[in-house]
Amino acid sequence: MTTPSFRESILRHLTYSFGKDPDHAILEDWRMALSLGVRDRIVDAWFKSTKRTYETGAKRVYYLSMEYLIGRLLEDGLVNLELVDEAREVLAEFGYDYDTVLADEPDAALGNGGLGRLAACFMESLSTIGCPAHGYGIRYEHGLFRQSFVDGRQIEQPELWLGQRHAWEFERPEVRYRIGFGGHVDVRDGHYRWHPGEEVEAEAFDTPTVGWKGRWANTLRLWSGRAIHPFDLEAFNHGDFTRAAAPEALARTISRVLYPDDTTEQGRELRLKQEYFLTASALRDILRRFSNQFDDLRKLPEKVAIQLNDTHPAIAGPELIRILVDEKGFDFDEAMEIAQGCLSYTNHTLLPEALEAWGEQLFGRLLPRHIGIIDRIDATHAGRNPSRTQSMRADQSVKMGQLSFVMAHKVNGVSALHTDLMKTTVFSELHGLHPDRIVNQTNGVTPRRWLLSCNPGLAGLITESIGEDWVDDLEQLSKLEPFIDDAGWLEHFDAVKRDNKVWLSNWMRDTYGMHADPDALFDVQIKRIHEYKRQHLNILETIALWQEMRENPNADWTPRLKLFGGKAAPGYFFAKDIIRLINDAASVINNDPLTQGMLRIAFLPNYNVSLAERMIPAADLSEQVSTAGKEASGTGNMKLALNGAPTIGTLDGANVEIRERVGADNFFLFGMTAQEVEDRRRVEGHAGLAIAADDRLKGALDLIRDGRFSPGETDRYRGITENLEGPDYFLVCSDFTDYWRAQREVDVVFRDDKAWDRMAALNTARSGWFSSDRTIRGYMADIWNAESLL
Ligand SMILES: *Cc1c(COP(=O)(O)O)cnc(C)c1O
Repeated sequence: MTTPSFRESILRHLTYSFGKDPDHAILEDWRMALSLGVRDRIVDAWFKSTKRTYETGAKRVYYLSMEYLIGRLLEDGLVNLELVDEAREVLAEFGYDYDTVLADEPDAALGNGGLGRLAACFMESLSTIGCPAHGYGIRYEHGLFRQSFVDGRQIEQPELWLGQRHAWEFERPEVRYRIGFGGHVDVRDGHYRWHPGEEVEAEAFDTPTVGWKGRWANTLRLWSGRAIHPFDLEAFNHGDFTRAAAPEALARTISRVLYPDDTTEQGRELRLKQEYFLTASALRDILRRFSNQFDDLRKLPEKVAIQLNDTHPAIAGPELIRILVDEKGFDFDEAMEIAQGCLSYTNHTLLPEALEAWGEQLFGRLLPRHIGIIDRIDATHAGRNPSRTQSMRADQSVKMGQLSFVMAHKVNGVSALHTDLMKTTVFSELHGLHPDRIVNQTNGVTPRRWLLSCNPGLAGLITESIGEDWVDDLEQLSKLEPFIDDAGWLEHFDAVKRDNKVWLSNWMRDTYGMHADPDALFDVQIKRIHEYKRQHLNILETIALWQEMRENPNADWTPRLKLFGGKAAPGYFFAKDIIRLINDAASVINNDPLTQGMLRIAFLPNYNVSLAERMIPAADLSEQVSTAGKEASGTGNMKLALNGAPTIGTLDGANVEIRERVGADNFFLFGMTAQEVEDRRRVEGHAGLAIAADDRLKGALDLIRDGRFSPGETDRYRGITENLEGPDYFLVCSDFTDYWRAQREVDVVFRDDKAWDRMAALNTARSGWFSSDRTIRGYMADIWNAESLL
């Protein structure tokens, strides 16, 4: 049998999968036919990979994550299978534009931000490397909300990513597990048995994830909630239609929506149910697969590595012990040891408000057996470590960070600084007791999506210069360094950036009617809106700059476009005020005839993976201005540096390592260090002192307070100004003056084309270390003890 050509495959799907001929097919038909053509080839790679894993009996990695911020998958597949040119030709032949067809695919936004995007990059890298792996998550019906602005305010609408046909998943009706909640626990002769009071069914949906050149494909398995008895016929027959459908509605609630906040812990019952639903289904599946191939559960740690992406799946420890003890007859200590051998935990934040802790009432009601197991884990740990002072069961709660730490054989931070801070703050006692447990794995991003596919111009220049091996060996980008001294090459690099800026500018005009001058410096801050990320520092500087320009309009200003993107959690009112202030400032400043052509603000709505892919290649400057010690790593910083945007940033998260690698001369550093932040907070009235010492800052705050951006409503931003003038926990005022200084340095360098291009190109050439391939190899070697099968 010969493999049909890609063209044949697309046309066959159009005809036989969708029942259309080319004359009657609509855009969505073409998108789907193209996707299924790609999917067929991914499936071939997938079967080969699965077979090989089975035959070698290799260790498997299981990544448990409540979030996967995937984005679109069609281009990912086309790029990894090197079918882009063929796809373009076939579509053109039938009068369709490649980019239009690709843009028809909805973003799968099953995540909030960095944590979920990391999980998606990891899945791609695991496949590129050929590490046998499964990702487990929840198939949310509604991903992260869709954001729009009305009068500058954020409006949230439900995201309907499954509202259009979706090409990538396979429903697995035969893979279903019953997941219980509540009920009671029987004890007989020291044996425990849990009798749940309520049960739902988890059904698997599989998406194959393909790596570079289609050499390997793994599985992302997402669970969907279903009722065990979907329909109450008796109630229906009595005319009670609502009650008849209730079981189905209740069960589906569990996978209905993604919680739209990953920086505060809300302690809601449904969230805990989601966490247990994901974790229990995954463990059932992992043990079933293990038992198909091996018999001795004591060998589990040799064959199974389970990574907890933050504490959300931390119930995996107690659940695995419960299965081993209650169902398989192990004694407790041995079960605990087996679980620890399999489990490892990634910490993503030290923000106290984000550390998960569940009230014991709620926890005990929902998971009555598990709370007993956690008490026993805690007692065992305390017994072995008599000097220990902190319990995971203090304050009538269950502390998921401590539970995860104790149940893991390795615990990792996501940047060097963050890992050091873990050791000295949240986990200092546990680190003292287990000094070998904490390791660092600095985050990374996949170069296939975040360079090759999103920035074809730059990718083309790189391949022309050093060959294509950089795509899965990103540190080869260092071979670009000698080219940077070549004026012709550097001009080419500059032209690529300029094309990307023109492209974005046209897209903004066509999509939003926004004006963007490609000659201006594109100054980009894109990420979730949060006080610690300090978008308000950026807008304050923008307002101060506007004032300075008005006072001195004939000076030699560097034209700037301040580009923003990001969503605020729906209940985070301060963050929503920041969004509104940026939009309000935009409508005043963009309409000021005195500063036309010198300063503009554009806040692009609905920041998601696809928007990031459009903005990042066009960025000149990367804003990474979080309060030092607060951003665990960041990955947006890496994407921007890789695409030739130097950073203006603090010594926070992976910024520290980016600066070390690209060189201090190619990074605009400002602000306090994490230690200075701690010291500064202890200075009485630090914000007032900073404001008194800086007239520009004072002037900007005065304008906001006087209603310059909220005519007729002077107290619209009182929340922000009073916070900044008062507690200013995130030290916006104390870092302002130095931020202003660094921004003016940016102005100067940007006016020197050559100097700027050099700096930008060096950022690309020296960012190769930030590939998620490097991160995954680190996890494989230091945490999972897993090997590539390629
Ligand atoms: C990379 C990425 C993030 C993470 O950005 P940070 O700047 O590291 O917070 C968030 N959202 C999307 C859509 C991303 O692509």
